[in-house]
Amino acid sequence: MPHAERRYNGAMNASTATVARLAPSPTGAQHIGNARTFLLVWLAARRANARLILRIEDIDSPRVKPEAVAQIEEDLRWLGLDWDVGPIYQTQRLPLYEQALSQLRAAERVYPCTCSRSDIANAASAPHADHEGPVYPRTCAHRRAADAESLGRPFAWRFRVDHSPAFVDGFRGPTYVDLSQVGGDFVVWKNSATPAYQLAVVVDDAAMGVTEVIRGDDLVASTPRQLLLYEAFGWSAPRFTHVPLVVGTDGRRLAKRHGDTRLAALRHAGVSAPALLGLLAWSCGWLDTITPITLPELLPLFRWQTLPPSAFMLRPEYLKAIGYEP
Ligand code: GLU
Ligand code: ZN
Repeated sequence: MPHAERRYNGAMNASTATVARLAPSPTGAQHIGNARTFLLVWLAARRANARLILRIEDIDSPRVKPEAVAQIEEDLRWLGLDWDVGPIYQTQRLPLYEQALSQLRAAERVYPCTCSRSDIANAASAPHADHEGPVYPRTCAHRRAADAESLGRPFAWRFRVDHSPAFVDGFRGPTYVDLSQVGGDFVVWKNSATPAYQLAVVVDDAAMGVTEVIRGDDLVASTPRQLLLYEAFGWSAPRFTHVPLVVGTDGRRLAKRHGDTRLAALRHAGVSAPALLGLLAWSCGWLDTITPITLPELLPLFRWQTLPPSAFMLRPEYLKAIGYEP
């Protein structure tokens, strides 16, 4: 019974075993793109005899949808994916994040920032090219952590970026993102009094003894930030592996405008899990044609070498091949 160990007791990082995680954000329903990443994480983990954790990243409060939280386990089970620990909910771990923040404050690694989004957009010198937003112009960097007490208005905590750690990605190889060009000093605690993704994910991965972080390559630029946090806390970092995303025919990340690719929709339309697994396996170069395959059959076929380095473009005819017309 893979789901027997329901509660995480904090005692898992004692061994040097391989530990991986599935870390869905319930900000919307899980779709074919999420399924492909889940599948890669699961196959890599099972092939490495890793312990696999399911962690629900539900701290992004205004964007989290309760119905999406409820669906995640059903979606994963439908695909046949299991896990050894969890689900663990980030919203139940706030004291850990608060403790980590106070550590950063005490070390003056963070400062209180009162800038609004438009303050930053107006002060930024260069137009920003991606979803990372403009480079933070360090308007508030002169502040000390203790200044927070006398501000009398909402503020976020920003981390002082002093370098950009390079890393060797498990799939992409040597990777470098210059943080002084991408985002700059980043938020670790939002002015809504909740931890930001960067802080929560590092605190959790460290506390849970995660050794393998496998996730979508939209998060490549997050990795140097997270490495800075590992350095600041004095924790050893996991290995990072970023996998290509699924995009629509317009080349953009899979979204509603590309039709209904939610796993629940496929399920309700009568698509079988092996049919979808066949499509995903084919997209990863493990099958020559789109034919149904079960998870146990797929396990020995998994390898990184055939995975195309660019995004997988989901075309309507591929969905047709598995009997689905959105
Ligand atoms: N929760 C994030 C997402 O669904 C993934 C975070 C991570 O893997 O570090 O995009
Ligand atoms: Zn500021």
